[in-house]
Amino acid sequence: MTNKEIADLIFSHITKDAEYYKNLYKDRNLSEGAIVTRYAPSPTGFIHMGALYASLICKKVAHDTNGIFFLRIEDTDKKREVEDGVSLIIKDLKDFGISFDEGVTLDGEKGNYGPYIQSKRKEIYQAFIKELLINGEAYVSFAKEEELEQIRHLQENTKARLGYYGPYAKDRNLTNEEVYERIKNGEEFVIRLKSKGDFNKKVVINDLVKGKVEMPENDLDVVIMKKDGLPTYHFAHAVDDTLMHTTHVIRGDEWLSSAPIHVELFKVIGAKVPKYAHISPLMKEDNGNKRKLSKRKDPEAAVSYYEEVGIPKEAVITYLMTVANSNFEEFMMHNKDKGLDDFKFDFKKMSKSGALFDLEKLKNISKNYLSTLKAEEVYENLLEYTKKHDEEFYNLITLHKEDTINTLNIERNCKKPRKDFESYSTVRNSIWYMYDELYKPENYEFTTITDKEEIINIMNTYMEKYFDANDTQEVWFDKMKDLASEFGYAKEVKEYKNNPDLYKGHVGDISMVLRVSVTSKSMTPNLYDIMQILGKERILKRIEILKKEYN
Ligand code: GLU
Repeated sequence: MTNKEIADLIFSHITKDAEYYKNLYKDRNLSEGAIVTRYAPSPTGFIHMGALYASLICKKVAHDTNGIFFLRIEDTDKKREVEDGVSLIIKDLKDFGISFDEGVTLDGEKGNYGPYIQSKRKEIYQAFIKELLINGEAYVSFAKEEELEQIRHLQENTKARLGYYGPYAKDRNLTNEEVYERIKNGEEFVIRLKSKGDFNKKVVINDLVKGKVEMPENDLDVVIMKKDGLPTYHFAHAVDDTLMHTTHVIRGDEWLSSAPIHVELFKVIGAKVPKYAHISPLMKEDNGNKRKLSKRKDPEAAVSYYEEVGIPKEAVITYLMTVANSNFEEFMMHNKDKGLDDFKFDFKKMSKSGALFDLEKLKNISKNYLSTLKAEEVYENLLEYTKKHDEEFYNLITLHKEDTINTLNIERNCKKPRKDFESYSTVRNSIWYMYDELYKPENYEFTTITDKEEIINIMNTYMEKYFDANDTQEVWFDKMKDLASEFGYAKEVKEYKNNPDLYKGHVGDISMVLRVSVTSKSMTPNLYDIMQILGKERILKRIEILKKEYN
Protein backbone atom coordinates (compact mmCIF):
# COMPACT_ATOMS: atom_id res chain seq x y z
CA MET A 1 0.00 0.00 0.00
CA THR A 2 1.35 3.42 -0.94
CA ASN A 3 1.61 6.67 0.99
CA LYS A 4 -0.75 8.17 -1.55
CA GLU A 5 -3.46 5.70 -0.67
CA ILE A 6 -3.18 6.72 2.99
CA ALA A 7 -3.18 10.40 2.06
CA ASP A 8 -6.25 9.92 -0.15
CA LEU A 9 -8.03 8.05 2.59
CA ILE A 10 -7.56 10.91 5.04
CA PHE A 11 -7.84 13.79 2.63
CA SER A 12 -10.29 12.55 0.03
CA HIS A 13 -11.80 16.05 -0.05
CA ILE A 14 -8.49 17.75 -0.83
CA THR A 15 -7.99 18.06 -4.56
CA LYS A 16 -5.46 20.89 -4.70
CA ASP A 17 -1.80 20.66 -3.86
CA ALA A 18 0.74 22.99 -2.30
CA GLU A 19 1.91 24.12 -5.73
CA TYR A 20 -1.58 25.33 -6.53
CA TYR A 21 -1.62 27.64 -3.52
CA LYS A 22 1.92 28.84 -4.07
CA ASN A 23 0.90 29.89 -7.57
CA LEU A 24 -2.33 31.43 -6.37
CA TYR A 25 -0.70 33.75 -3.87
CA LYS A 26 1.83 35.44 -6.10
CA ASP A 27 4.76 37.48 -4.92
CA ARG A 28 3.76 40.88 -3.68
CA ASN A 29 4.54 43.67 -6.05
CA LEU A 30 6.45 45.86 -3.63
CA SER A 31 9.42 48.11 -4.00
CA GLU A 32 12.92 46.89 -3.20
CA GLY A 33 13.49 46.52 0.53
CA ALA A 34 9.80 46.69 1.45
CA ILE A 35 9.10 44.70 4.58
CA VAL A 36 5.94 42.66 5.11
CA THR A 37 4.97 42.06 8.72
CA ARG A 38 1.97 40.70 10.48
CA TYR A 39 0.43 40.82 13.87
CA ALA A 40 -0.91 37.36 14.56
CA PRO A 41 -2.81 37.18 17.82
CA SER A 42 -5.00 34.43 19.14
CA PRO A 43 -8.44 35.82 19.95
CA THR A 44 -8.18 35.24 23.67
CA GLY A 45 -9.84 38.51 24.53
CA PHE A 46 -7.22 40.63 26.19
CA ILE A 47 -4.89 43.11 24.59
CA HIS A 48 -2.05 43.87 26.94
CA MET A 49 0.82 46.29 26.63
CA GLY A 50 3.15 43.61 25.27
CA ALA A 51 0.76 43.04 22.38
CA LEU A 52 0.41 46.74 21.67
CA TYR A 53 4.18 47.08 21.83
CA ALA A 54 4.73 44.23 19.36
CA SER A 55 2.08 45.43 16.94
CA LEU A 56 3.45 48.96 17.05
CA ILE A 57 6.87 47.65 16.05
CA CYS A 58 5.40 45.45 13.30
CA LYS A 59 3.52 48.41 11.87
CA LYS A 60 6.44 50.79 12.14
CA VAL A 61 8.89 48.46 10.43
CA ALA A 62 6.52 47.81 7.54
CA HIS A 63 5.64 51.45 7.04
CA ASP A 64 9.23 52.66 7.34
CA THR A 65 9.92 50.63 4.18
CA ASN A 66 6.68 51.15 2.23
CA GLY A 67 5.77 47.60 3.07
CA ILE A 68 2.62 45.93 4.30
CA PHE A 69 1.36 45.28 7.79
CA PHE A 70 -1.48 42.80 8.09
CA LEU A 71 -3.62 41.17 10.76
CA ARG A 72 -3.95 37.42 10.90
CA ILE A 73 -6.08 35.72 13.49
CA GLU A 74 -4.60 32.53 14.88
CA ASP A 75 -7.60 30.64 16.14
CA THR A 76 -6.58 27.03 15.75
CA ASP A 77 -6.82 26.51 19.48
CA LYS A 78 -10.58 26.68 19.83
CA LYS A 79 -10.49 26.07 23.59
CA ARG A 80 -8.81 29.40 24.31
CA GLU A 81 -11.05 31.52 22.15
CA VAL A 82 -13.46 34.07 23.62
CA GLU A 83 -16.54 35.54 22.03
CA ASP A 84 -15.88 38.88 20.31
CA GLY A 85 -12.16 38.18 20.72
CA VAL A 86 -11.39 39.39 17.21
CA SER A 87 -13.35 42.65 17.33
CA LEU A 88 -11.88 43.43 20.76
CA ILE A 89 -8.39 43.14 19.35
CA ILE A 90 -9.18 45.30 16.33
CA LYS A 91 -10.93 47.99 18.39
CA ASP A 92 -8.32 48.11 21.14
CA LEU A 93 -5.51 48.50 18.64
CA LYS A 94 -7.43 51.06 16.61
CA ASP A 95 -7.86 53.18 19.74
CA PHE A 96 -4.09 53.46 19.80
CA GLY A 97 -3.85 54.29 16.12
CA ILE A 98 -2.77 50.82 15.07
CA SER A 99 -4.64 49.83 11.96
CA PHE A 100 -3.80 47.34 9.26
CA ASP A 101 -3.18 47.56 5.53
CA GLU A 102 -4.60 44.13 5.04
CA GLY A 103 -6.19 41.22 6.84
CA VAL A 104 -9.10 40.75 9.17
CA THR A 105 -11.38 43.76 9.63
CA LEU A 106 -14.46 44.44 11.74
CA ASP A 107 -16.72 43.51 8.88
CA GLY A 108 -14.76 40.88 7.02
CA GLU A 109 -11.37 40.93 5.39
CA LYS A 110 -9.35 42.99 2.94
CA GLY A 111 -6.38 41.96 0.85
CA ASN A 112 -5.47 39.32 -1.72
CA TYR A 113 -3.70 36.86 0.52
CA GLY A 114 -6.61 35.63 2.63
CA PRO A 115 -8.43 34.11 4.25
CA TYR A 116 -6.65 35.72 7.16
CA ILE A 117 -8.36 33.67 9.84
CA GLN A 118 -6.60 30.38 10.34
CA SER A 119 -9.73 28.34 11.00
CA LYS A 120 -10.85 29.30 7.48
CA ARG A 121 -7.62 28.00 5.97
CA LYS A 122 -8.06 24.36 6.90
CA GLU A 123 -8.08 23.16 3.30
CA ILE A 124 -4.91 25.03 2.50
CA TYR A 125 -3.01 23.48 5.41
CA GLN A 126 -4.40 20.07 4.56
CA ALA A 127 -3.24 20.37 0.94
CA PHE A 128 0.30 20.91 2.23
CA ILE A 129 -0.01 18.09 4.76
CA LYS A 130 -1.41 15.69 2.18
CA GLU A 131 1.61 16.32 0.03
CA LEU A 132 3.98 15.74 2.93
CA LEU A 133 2.25 12.43 3.64
CA ILE A 134 2.59 11.36 0.01
CA ASN A 135 6.28 12.30 -0.01
CA GLY A 136 6.96 10.51 3.24
CA GLU A 137 7.88 13.75 5.05
CA ALA A 138 5.05 13.28 7.52
CA TYR A 139 3.25 10.30 9.02
CA VAL A 140 0.12 9.27 10.83
CA SER A 141 0.52 8.76 14.56
CA PHE A 142 -1.95 7.10 16.88
CA ALA A 143 0.13 7.50 20.06
CA LYS A 144 -2.30 8.28 22.87
CA GLU A 145 -1.69 10.36 25.97
CA GLU A 146 -0.81 7.25 28.07
CA GLU A 147 1.78 6.12 25.58
CA LEU A 148 3.35 9.56 25.43
CA GLU A 149 3.36 9.58 29.23
CA GLN A 150 5.20 6.24 29.26
CA ILE A 151 7.80 7.56 26.87
CA ARG A 152 8.26 10.59 29.10
CA HIS A 153 8.80 8.40 32.16
CA LEU A 154 11.28 6.23 30.35
CA GLN A 155 13.18 9.32 29.19
CA GLU A 156 13.19 10.79 32.67
CA ASN A 157 14.41 7.54 34.22
CA THR A 158 17.20 7.13 31.71
CA LYS A 159 18.01 10.87 31.72
CA ALA A 160 17.28 11.05 28.04
CA ARG A 161 16.10 14.18 26.30
CA LEU A 162 12.29 14.50 26.36
CA GLY A 163 10.10 14.37 23.30
CA TYR A 164 8.81 12.27 20.43
CA TYR A 165 11.88 11.69 18.27
CA GLY A 166 14.22 9.09 16.82
CA PRO A 167 13.89 5.71 18.56
CA TYR A 168 10.99 6.93 20.71
CA ALA A 169 8.93 7.86 17.70
CA LYS A 170 7.48 4.37 17.27
CA ASP A 171 4.71 5.32 14.88
CA ARG A 172 7.29 6.21 12.26
CA ASN A 173 7.59 2.52 11.65
CA LEU A 174 3.94 1.64 11.24
CA THR A 175 3.21 -0.03 7.94
CA ASN A 176 0.78 1.67 5.60
CA GLU A 177 -1.43 -1.39 5.88
CA GLU A 178 -1.67 -1.00 9.64
CA VAL A 179 -2.27 2.73 9.38
CA TYR A 180 -5.01 2.14 6.82
CA GLU A 181 -6.65 -0.49 9.02
CA ARG A 182 -6.60 1.62 12.17
CA ILE A 183 -8.00 4.71 10.41
CA LYS A 184 -10.74 2.55 8.89
CA ASN A 185 -11.52 1.33 12.41
CA GLY A 186 -12.13 4.92 13.44
CA GLU A 187 -9.07 5.30 15.66
CA GLU A 188 -8.10 8.90 16.42
CA PHE A 189 -4.82 10.13 15.02
CA VAL A 190 -2.58 13.13 14.49
CA ILE A 191 -0.08 13.82 11.74
CA ARG A 192 3.54 14.33 12.65
CA LEU A 193 6.54 15.69 10.83
CA LYS A 194 9.11 12.99 10.05
CA SER A 195 12.02 15.09 11.14
CA LYS A 196 15.30 14.78 9.31
CA GLY A 197 17.10 17.00 11.78
CA ASP A 198 20.17 16.03 13.77
CA PHE A 199 20.26 17.21 17.35
CA ASN A 200 24.05 17.22 17.27
CA LYS A 201 24.13 19.71 14.45
CA LYS A 202 23.49 23.40 14.85
CA VAL A 203 20.98 25.64 13.22
CA VAL A 204 21.82 29.33 13.17
CA ILE A 205 19.14 31.99 13.50
CA ASN A 206 20.32 35.49 12.66
CA ASP A 207 17.74 37.14 14.81
CA LEU A 208 17.29 40.85 14.21
CA VAL A 209 16.94 41.55 17.92
CA LYS A 210 18.88 38.78 19.62
CA GLY A 211 21.69 38.59 17.09
CA LYS A 212 23.22 35.30 16.02
CA VAL A 213 21.58 32.47 17.94
CA GLU A 214 22.82 28.91 17.60
CA MET A 215 20.59 26.05 18.60
CA PRO A 216 20.56 22.31 18.00
CA GLU A 217 18.64 21.30 14.91
CA ASN A 218 15.12 20.10 15.48
CA ASP A 219 14.73 16.36 15.51
CA LEU A 220 11.29 16.18 17.13
CA ASP A 221 8.51 14.65 15.13
CA VAL A 222 6.24 17.52 16.06
CA VAL A 223 2.52 17.30 15.50
CA ILE A 224 1.57 19.30 12.45
CA MET A 225 -2.11 18.36 12.32
CA LYS A 226 -4.18 17.78 15.42
CA LYS A 227 -6.98 15.28 15.93
CA ASP A 228 -9.53 17.90 14.90
CA GLY A 229 -7.90 18.33 11.50
CA LEU A 230 -6.53 21.78 12.31
CA PRO A 231 -2.82 22.48 12.15
CA THR A 232 -0.64 23.32 15.13
CA TYR A 233 0.73 26.85 15.48
CA HIS A 234 4.10 25.64 14.16
CA PHE A 235 2.74 24.36 10.90
CA ALA A 236 0.20 27.11 10.34
CA HIS A 237 2.91 29.71 10.87
CA ALA A 238 5.11 28.17 8.19
CA VAL A 239 2.31 27.84 5.63
CA ASP A 240 0.74 31.23 6.30
CA ASP A 241 3.90 33.27 6.37
CA THR A 242 4.94 31.56 3.15
CA LEU A 243 1.70 32.16 1.26
CA MET A 244 1.19 35.64 2.69
CA HIS A 245 4.80 36.51 1.82
CA THR A 246 5.72 37.75 5.24
CA THR A 247 9.32 38.90 5.06
CA HIS A 248 9.84 39.51 8.78
CA VAL A 249 8.28 37.48 11.57
CA ILE A 250 8.25 39.72 14.61
CA ARG A 251 6.98 37.93 17.70
CA GLY A 252 7.53 37.39 21.41
CA ASP A 253 10.77 35.69 22.39
CA GLU A 254 8.91 32.84 24.02
CA TRP A 255 8.90 31.47 20.45
CA LEU A 256 12.66 31.63 19.97
CA SER A 257 13.24 28.10 21.29
CA SER A 258 10.75 26.77 18.69
CA ALA A 259 12.54 28.46 15.81
CA PRO A 260 14.51 25.31 14.86
CA ILE A 261 11.18 23.51 14.36
CA HIS A 262 9.99 26.35 12.17
CA VAL A 263 13.17 26.41 10.12
CA GLU A 264 12.72 22.73 9.38
CA LEU A 265 9.04 23.18 8.53
CA PHE A 266 9.77 25.99 6.07
CA LYS A 267 12.34 23.75 4.41
CA VAL A 268 10.05 20.76 4.23
CA ILE A 269 7.32 22.76 2.49
CA GLY A 270 9.89 24.13 0.08
CA ALA A 271 9.74 27.70 1.30
CA LYS A 272 12.19 30.39 2.26
CA VAL A 273 12.66 30.99 5.98
CA PRO A 274 11.58 34.56 6.78
CA LYS A 275 13.71 36.89 8.86
CA TYR A 276 13.02 36.63 12.56
CA ALA A 277 12.89 39.30 15.23
CA HIS A 278 12.14 37.91 18.67
CA ILE A 279 11.09 40.72 20.97
CA SER A 280 11.89 40.57 24.66
CA PRO A 281 8.99 41.07 27.03
CA LEU A 282 8.31 44.37 28.77
CA MET A 283 9.78 44.30 32.25
CA LYS A 284 8.89 46.02 35.46
CA GLU A 285 11.03 46.99 38.38
CA ASP A 286 9.59 45.46 41.52
CA ASN A 287 11.43 46.05 44.80
CA GLY A 288 14.76 46.28 43.06
CA ASN A 289 14.13 43.19 40.94
CA LYS A 290 13.29 43.05 37.28
CA ARG A 291 10.34 40.88 36.38
CA LYS A 292 7.93 40.59 33.46
CA LEU A 293 5.12 43.12 33.35
CA SER A 294 2.22 40.99 34.52
CA LYS A 295 -1.41 41.13 33.50
CA ARG A 296 -2.31 39.79 36.93
CA LYS A 297 -0.22 42.08 39.13
CA ASP A 298 0.12 45.31 37.16
CA PRO A 299 -2.95 47.32 36.20
CA GLU A 300 -0.84 49.29 33.72
CA ALA A 301 -0.29 46.07 31.75
CA ALA A 302 -3.85 46.29 30.41
CA VAL A 303 -4.37 48.72 27.57
CA SER A 304 -7.75 49.66 29.05
CA TYR A 305 -5.90 51.24 32.00
CA TYR A 306 -4.87 54.24 29.92
CA GLU A 307 -8.37 55.07 28.82
CA GLU A 308 -9.59 54.67 32.39
CA VAL A 309 -7.09 57.12 33.87
CA GLY A 310 -7.16 59.36 30.83
CA ILE A 311 -3.60 59.08 29.63
CA PRO A 312 -3.67 60.07 25.96
CA LYS A 313 -2.90 57.34 23.50
CA GLU A 314 -0.30 59.54 21.82
CA ALA A 315 1.71 59.51 25.05
CA VAL A 316 1.42 55.73 25.33
CA ILE A 317 2.62 55.23 21.78
CA THR A 318 5.46 57.73 22.19
CA TYR A 319 6.53 55.96 25.34
CA LEU A 320 6.36 52.49 23.80
CA MET A 321 8.49 53.67 20.90
CA THR A 322 10.96 55.07 23.42
CA VAL A 323 11.05 51.68 25.14
CA ALA A 324 11.64 50.02 21.77
CA ASN A 325 14.31 52.47 20.60
CA SER A 326 15.61 54.66 23.39
CA ASN A 327 16.93 57.23 20.91
CA PHE A 328 13.33 58.08 19.98
CA GLU A 329 13.03 60.36 23.00
CA GLU A 330 16.11 62.28 21.92
CA PHE A 331 14.81 62.45 18.36
CA MET A 332 11.56 63.96 19.58
CA MET A 333 13.42 66.45 21.75
CA HIS A 334 15.54 67.67 18.86
CA ASN A 335 12.78 67.57 16.25
CA LYS A 336 9.83 69.25 17.88
CA ASP A 337 7.91 69.61 14.64
CA LYS A 338 8.35 65.97 13.65
CA GLY A 339 6.53 62.84 14.70
CA LEU A 340 6.73 59.08 14.83
CA ASP A 341 6.52 58.78 11.04
CA ASP A 342 9.74 60.72 10.60
CA PHE A 343 11.69 58.47 12.93
CA LYS A 344 13.48 55.43 11.57
CA PHE A 345 13.08 52.36 13.74
CA ASP A 346 16.11 50.12 14.24
CA PHE A 347 15.98 46.55 15.54
CA LYS A 348 19.58 46.79 16.66
CA LYS A 349 18.64 49.39 19.26
CA MET A 350 16.16 47.09 20.97
CA SER A 351 16.92 45.55 24.32
CA LYS A 352 17.95 41.91 24.00
CA SER A 353 17.00 41.00 27.53
CA GLY A 354 13.81 42.97 28.14
CA ALA A 355 13.24 46.69 28.35
CA LEU A 356 11.94 48.29 31.48
CA PHE A 357 8.40 49.62 31.38
CA ASP A 358 8.21 52.54 33.76
CA LEU A 359 4.79 54.03 34.33
CA GLU A 360 6.28 57.17 35.89
CA LYS A 361 8.21 57.84 32.71
CA LEU A 362 5.11 57.33 30.68
CA LYS A 363 3.26 59.83 32.87
CA ASN A 364 6.05 62.29 32.32
CA ILE A 365 5.72 61.92 28.57
CA SER A 366 2.00 62.36 28.99
CA LYS A 367 2.57 65.60 30.93
CA ASN A 368 4.81 66.90 28.20
CA TYR A 369 2.40 65.89 25.51
CA LEU A 370 -0.61 67.47 27.22
CA SER A 371 1.35 70.70 27.67
CA THR A 372 1.79 70.96 23.89
CA LEU A 373 -1.93 70.81 23.10
CA LYS A 374 -4.12 73.85 22.60
CA ALA A 375 -6.45 74.65 25.47
CA GLU A 376 -9.43 73.94 23.20
CA GLU A 377 -8.07 70.49 22.40
CA VAL A 378 -7.50 69.70 26.06
CA TYR A 379 -11.04 70.89 26.71
CA GLU A 380 -12.55 68.66 24.03
CA ASN A 381 -10.64 65.62 25.24
CA LEU A 382 -11.53 66.42 28.82
CA LEU A 383 -15.19 66.57 27.85
CA GLU A 384 -14.95 63.17 26.26
CA TYR A 385 -13.13 61.73 29.24
CA THR A 386 -15.35 63.18 31.96
CA LYS A 387 -18.51 62.27 30.07
CA LYS A 388 -17.57 58.67 30.67
CA HIS A 389 -15.81 58.87 34.01
CA ASP A 390 -16.89 61.95 35.97
CA GLU A 391 -20.38 63.16 35.27
CA GLU A 392 -20.32 65.97 37.85
CA PHE A 393 -17.20 67.52 36.40
CA TYR A 394 -18.49 66.96 32.89
CA ASN A 395 -21.58 69.01 33.72
CA LEU A 396 -19.49 71.76 35.27
CA ILE A 397 -17.08 72.15 32.41
CA THR A 398 -19.97 72.07 29.96
CA LEU A 399 -21.73 74.85 31.86
CA HIS A 400 -18.55 76.91 32.27
CA LYS A 401 -16.99 76.23 28.90
CA GLU A 402 -15.30 79.57 28.42
CA ASP A 403 -13.88 79.76 31.93
CA THR A 404 -12.62 76.21 31.64
CA ILE A 405 -10.84 76.87 28.37
CA ASN A 406 -9.38 80.08 29.80
CA THR A 407 -8.21 78.19 32.87
CA LEU A 408 -6.64 75.47 30.76
CA ASN A 409 -4.98 78.18 28.74
CA ILE A 410 -3.11 79.74 31.65
CA GLU A 411 0.64 79.63 30.91
CA ARG A 412 0.04 77.33 27.97
CA ASN A 413 0.89 79.23 24.79
CA CYS A 414 4.39 80.12 25.82
CA LYS A 415 7.92 78.86 25.47
CA LYS A 416 7.81 76.78 28.61
CA PRO A 417 4.21 75.76 29.07
CA ARG A 418 3.06 74.45 32.43
CA LYS A 419 2.99 70.70 32.85
CA ASP A 420 0.22 70.39 35.38
CA PHE A 421 -1.68 67.42 34.04
CA GLU A 422 -0.36 63.92 33.62
CA SER A 423 -3.77 62.62 32.58
CA TYR A 424 -7.34 63.79 32.12
CA SER A 425 -8.31 62.25 35.44
CA THR A 426 -5.93 64.59 37.28
CA VAL A 427 -7.28 67.82 35.76
CA ARG A 428 -10.14 68.14 38.22
CA ASN A 429 -7.80 67.93 41.19
CA SER A 430 -5.65 70.68 39.71
CA ILE A 431 -8.33 73.22 38.85
CA TRP A 432 -11.30 72.43 41.09
CA TYR A 433 -11.02 75.81 42.85
CA MET A 434 -11.97 77.56 39.63
CA TYR A 435 -15.55 76.31 40.04
CA ASP A 436 -17.74 77.93 42.68
CA GLU A 437 -19.77 74.74 42.85
CA LEU A 438 -16.66 72.85 44.03
CA TYR A 439 -15.13 75.67 46.03
CA LYS A 440 -15.45 74.48 49.61
CA PRO A 441 -11.95 74.94 50.99
CA GLU A 442 -11.06 72.62 53.82
CA ASN A 443 -7.64 74.03 54.34
CA TYR A 444 -6.24 77.47 53.53
CA GLU A 445 -2.58 77.08 52.74
CA PHE A 446 -1.37 80.44 54.05
CA THR A 447 2.37 80.47 54.49
CA THR A 448 4.24 83.46 55.89
CA ILE A 449 1.33 85.71 56.72
CA THR A 450 -1.11 83.70 58.80
CA ASP A 451 -2.69 86.31 61.04
CA LYS A 452 -6.37 86.36 60.20
CA GLU A 453 -6.90 90.05 60.86
CA GLU A 454 -3.92 91.03 58.78
CA ILE A 455 -5.11 88.80 55.94
CA ILE A 456 -8.64 90.19 55.98
CA ASN A 457 -7.27 93.74 56.12
CA ILE A 458 -5.00 93.14 53.17
CA MET A 459 -7.86 91.67 51.15
CA ASN A 460 -10.32 94.43 52.02
CA THR A 461 -7.82 97.12 51.18
CA TYR A 462 -6.89 95.43 47.96
CA MET A 463 -10.45 95.13 46.78
CA GLU A 464 -11.48 98.62 47.82
CA LYS A 465 -8.44 100.56 46.75
CA TYR A 466 -6.52 98.64 44.12
CA PHE A 467 -8.57 96.08 42.29
CA ASP A 468 -9.52 96.93 38.74
CA ALA A 469 -10.51 94.15 36.33
CA ASN A 470 -9.18 96.20 33.41
CA ASP A 471 -5.62 96.34 34.67
CA THR A 472 -2.89 94.76 32.62
CA GLN A 473 -0.62 92.30 34.37
CA GLU A 474 2.07 94.98 34.75
CA VAL A 475 -0.28 97.48 36.34
CA TRP A 476 -1.74 94.74 38.50
CA PHE A 477 1.69 93.85 39.77
CA ASP A 478 2.68 97.45 40.39
CA LYS A 479 -0.44 97.81 42.49
CA MET A 480 0.54 94.72 44.44
CA LYS A 481 3.77 96.49 45.29
CA ASP A 482 1.90 99.54 46.45
CA LEU A 483 -0.35 97.36 48.56
CA ALA A 484 2.72 95.70 50.05
CA SER A 485 4.25 99.02 50.88
CA GLU A 486 1.03 100.24 52.47
CA PHE A 487 1.16 97.32 54.89
CA GLY A 488 4.85 97.66 55.67
CA TYR A 489 6.19 95.02 53.27
CA ALA A 490 9.06 95.65 50.87
CA LYS A 491 8.17 96.23 47.22
CA GLU A 492 11.05 94.01 46.10
CA VAL A 493 12.33 90.77 47.56
CA LYS A 494 15.89 92.08 47.22
CA GLU A 495 15.10 95.19 49.13
CA TYR A 496 13.72 93.10 51.96
CA LYS A 497 16.74 90.82 52.00
CA ASN A 498 19.08 93.78 52.23
CA ASN A 499 17.15 95.38 55.10
CA PRO A 500 15.10 92.70 56.82
CA ASP A 501 14.62 94.84 59.91
CA LEU A 502 12.86 97.59 58.00
CA TYR A 503 9.98 95.44 56.74
CA LYS A 504 7.45 92.85 57.87
CA GLY A 505 8.15 90.90 54.73
CA HIS A 506 8.02 91.47 50.96
CA VAL A 507 5.64 91.70 48.03
CA GLY A 508 5.71 87.91 47.57
CA ASP A 509 4.09 87.49 50.97
CA ILE A 510 1.32 89.83 49.92
CA SER A 511 0.64 88.05 46.62
CA MET A 512 0.56 84.80 48.56
CA VAL A 513 -2.22 86.22 50.71
CA LEU A 514 -4.17 87.06 47.57
CA ARG A 515 -3.52 83.68 46.03
CA VAL A 516 -4.59 81.66 49.05
CA SER A 517 -7.55 83.93 49.76
CA VAL A 518 -9.08 83.33 46.34
CA THR A 519 -8.06 79.72 45.70
CA SER A 520 -7.14 78.35 49.16
CA LYS A 521 -4.01 76.93 47.50
CA SER A 522 -0.45 78.15 47.92
CA MET A 523 0.57 76.80 44.54
CA THR A 524 -1.41 77.76 41.49
CA PRO A 525 -0.70 78.92 37.98
CA ASN A 526 -0.46 82.65 37.29
CA LEU A 527 -2.55 84.50 39.87
CA TYR A 528 -3.30 87.44 37.61
CA ASP A 529 -4.92 85.10 35.07
CA ILE A 530 -6.86 83.31 37.76
CA MET A 531 -8.22 86.59 39.08
CA GLN A 532 -9.11 87.71 35.57
CA ILE A 533 -11.16 84.59 35.07
CA LEU A 534 -12.82 84.79 38.47
CA GLY A 535 -13.74 88.48 38.15
CA LYS A 536 -14.67 90.91 40.87
CA GLU A 537 -17.94 89.37 42.12
CA ARG A 538 -16.56 85.90 42.55
CA ILE A 539 -13.43 87.20 44.25
CA LEU A 540 -15.58 89.13 46.72
CA LYS A 541 -17.62 86.00 47.34
CA ARG A 542 -14.46 84.07 48.06
CA ILE A 543 -13.30 86.68 50.54
CA GLU A 544 -16.66 86.26 52.29
CA ILE A 545 -16.12 82.50 52.41
CA LEU A 546 -12.64 83.13 53.79
CA LYS A 547 -13.97 85.41 56.52
CA LYS A 548 -16.41 82.72 57.59
CA GLU A 549 -14.12 79.74 57.29
CA TYR A 550 -10.68 80.87 58.31
CA ASN A 551 -10.16 80.81 62.02
N1 GLU B 1 -0.55 33.36 17.77
C1 GLU B 1 0.76 33.51 18.29
C2 GLU B 1 0.65 34.15 19.67
O1 GLU B 1 -0.42 34.45 20.08
C3 GLU B 1 1.52 34.41 17.37
C4 GLU B 1 2.98 34.23 17.34
C5 GLU B 1 3.50 34.85 16.05
O2 GLU B 1 3.44 36.08 15.93
O3 GLU B 1 3.90 34.12 15.17
O4 GLU B 1 1.61 34.32 20.37
